[in-house]
Amino acid sequence: MRFIFTFLCIISLMREVSPQGLLSDNDKIIIDSLFNGALRQRTAYEWLKDICVNIGPRLSGSDASNKSLDWAVNKLNGMSNVKVYRQELMVPYWERGKVEKAYLISNGNQTELKVAALGGSIGTGSSLLASQVIELKSFEELEQRKAEVKNKIVFFNNEFPKTVLNTFEAYGQLARYRVFGAREAAKFGAVAVIVRSITSSEDNVPHVGVMIYNDTIPKIPAVAIGVLDAGVLHNSIVKDKEALVSIQLSCQILPDRPSANIIAEIKGTEKPEEVIVVSGHFDSWDKGQGAHDDGAGCVQSMEVIKLFSDMNYKPLHTIRCVLFMNEENGSRGSAKYTELSTEKHLAAIESDRGGFLPNGFSFDGDSLLFEKLREFIPQLNKWGVWYFQKGGSGADIGRIKDCKMKLGYVPDSQRYFEVHHSDNDVIGAVNPRELELGSAVNAMMVYILDKYF
Ligand SMILES: [Zn+2]
Repeated sequence: MRFIFTFLCIISLMREVSPQGLLSDNDKIIIDSLFNGALRQRTAYEWLKDICVNIGPRLSGSDASNKSLDWAVNKLNGMSNVKVYRQELMVPYWERGKVEKAYLISNGNQTELKVAALGGSIGTGSSLLASQVIELKSFEELEQRKAEVKNKIVFFNNEFPKTVLNTFEAYGQLARYRVFGAREAAKFGAVAVIVRSITSSEDNVPHVGVMIYNDTIPKIPAVAIGVLDAGVLHNSIVKDKEALVSIQLSCQILPDRPSANIIAEIKGTEKPEEVIVVSGHFDSWDKGQGAHDDGAGCVQSMEVIKLFSDMNYKPLHTIRCVLFMNEENGSRGSAKYTELSTEKHLAAIESDRGGFLPNGFSFDGDSLLFEKLREFIPQLNKWGVWYFQKGGSGADIGRIKDCKMKLGYVPDSQRYFEVHHSDNDVIGAVNPRELELGSAVNAMMVYILDKYF
């Protein structure tokens, strides 16, 4: 009996110092307890519900976004062995205002179109903007037809590519028309742009997002239009070449406002000067509640800290949750973090693809470290992690300079662009179990990075 016990101890000791890529029995117990803690307590979900319902969307610089900073500090402050602090910064501030209307005027009829100003757009001022519309698919077509654009409204009408399996790739094919459409169309004298919402939904909800001007090119208003009304507009201008669209927007760009990143960390016991970041961005667009984008990534990152704090885990490296501000329209939060950061980063994880069912991680960094981490992946299948590929990590952690490994948390992408940057992005679109599994998967990855790297 004693022999067997001693033998088992030796085996378990061997596993503790086991070859690279092998989880010990103790590791499995710890990972199980991370999952049990997340699934039983549902802390991230309760936090997300609270912030969505009681604070709402958190556009950079808005009163709601500043209120959400105090909210996060308050939640994180209650945890043992966790240091919480703010990094103050200034953020750009844009306001939608109250007026946001568009009408289609064709054959004596006036039909309202569902539109929303793109983030950063100028308003239409006091005079009514009304003009004929030219429908285009691409910047190449814009170049070919530039002589027809003057004094017109350019309508970029592209369907979300249905056959692209990864919806982020599909989004990537179209985002340039939203971001740069106004700038490109204004070069040839367009007076406004209308961009079909980049969404896989077949509804009429406009999906917004950032647009960027160039100071040397005239600034013209830019709106997103709902998918159904994009169809209405298309059909109407095919039939009636004289059809007009009028647009009225009261949005405006205002002076920068104070804001902050929120940070919570558990100090490392052996390598406190080496940091593992787990992160999301705390700002959102002003539509919906910012639930998936990126309330989900923020509450998951906060919960990682809570799960370790609850089990009184003593990490070797410093584990740090960063809630970045202003990812959506300026990335001032990640710029400030990078500016102030003096430590080495062993790794940084960003969760900014919604709170959906976990698949795994994308990896950006040294190939040897990629191979070493990849050895663990088959053992993580039982906790739902199977995806592990080289690829982009995230907009905020992308800037961190001294960082060996950058990981993007990858959940299932099929439903994300139904809600992204729109009134559809509300707590009701978040599944509590999927969100919590994401917290646990991020915590599991932090644990492996901390122990084996
Ligand atoms: Zn986001």
